[in-house]
Amino acid sequence: MKLSHLENITKSFDTTETMPVLFVGHGSPMNAIENNEFTKAWQTMGKSLPKPNAIVCISAHWETKGTYVTAMGKPQTIHDFGGFPKALFDVQYAAPGNTELAKETKKLITKADVGMDERWGLDHGAWSVIKVMYPDADIPVIQLSLDYNQKPQFHYDLAKELAPLRKKGVLILGSGNMVHNLGKLDWNNQEGGFDWAQTANEKFKKLILANDHSALINYRNLGREVELAIPTPEHYLPLLYSLALKTQNEEVVFFNDKYVMGSLSMTSVKIG
Ligand code: ZN
Repeated sequence: MKLSHLENITKSFDTTETMPVLFVGHGSPMNAIENNEFTKAWQTMGKSLPKPNAIVCISAHWETKGTYVTAMGKPQTIHDFGGFPKALFDVQYAAPGNTELAKETKKLITKADVGMDERWGLDHGAWSVIKVMYPDADIPVIQLSLDYNQKPQFHYDLAKELAPLRKKGVLILGSGNMVHNLGKLDWNNQEGGFDWAQTANEKFKKLILANDHSALINYRNLGREVELAIPTPEHYLPLLYSLALKTQNEEVVFFNDKYVMGSLSMTSVKIG
């Protein structure tokens, strides 16, 4: 780690034990208000992790030209979906932002000139999960966007620069889905996964356990099943952000390792 990086770490938080990193498969926005096996695991995670000083969320649902970090003090709850019940649109998650942390995150990142965003807020990739983990909305949350013009390697390299935040009690949370093909959803198949979805998901897990991040970055070479699992990269890229922060010997635990409607996997990863 370069000294200049250490000097840039947020002054407002004391140094802590290294925070674990999460990748969470968020699935349907309805998880925000349902009580099911997935949300139970999120609740448990919220209670079992050391309480974070703040959260940096990389959500599949914020893609931008260039990289941005939310910098407002009071991020709005964005209902970025359609066709769901009013109860879901009524959800407000009032976690504060943290302008100081946004500035320091920008300073840590040398791979891009990170823009300070005042317009976004929290999209459902962030709040549907974080609301369940931390219902009191007492932990500041900022989001880091996905630059849609960049290749997977860029995202992975950029994510590595966030590592110092782990020592300041900041929880870095990637939110997406490893297998995510909405065009192939089977509405009658509530639980099982299609053969190709299972093959792809198992491949990902094996490569994660083998620390073969290079193969995961170059996922386009992983065959037909993976092509079907990742028709567009935005739900997969948050996984690369989380993996980039893993040190060689850190423990990896999978949770919510299940399929929904054939073509979605909820498989989530706890690192450290
Ligand atoms: Zn999503």
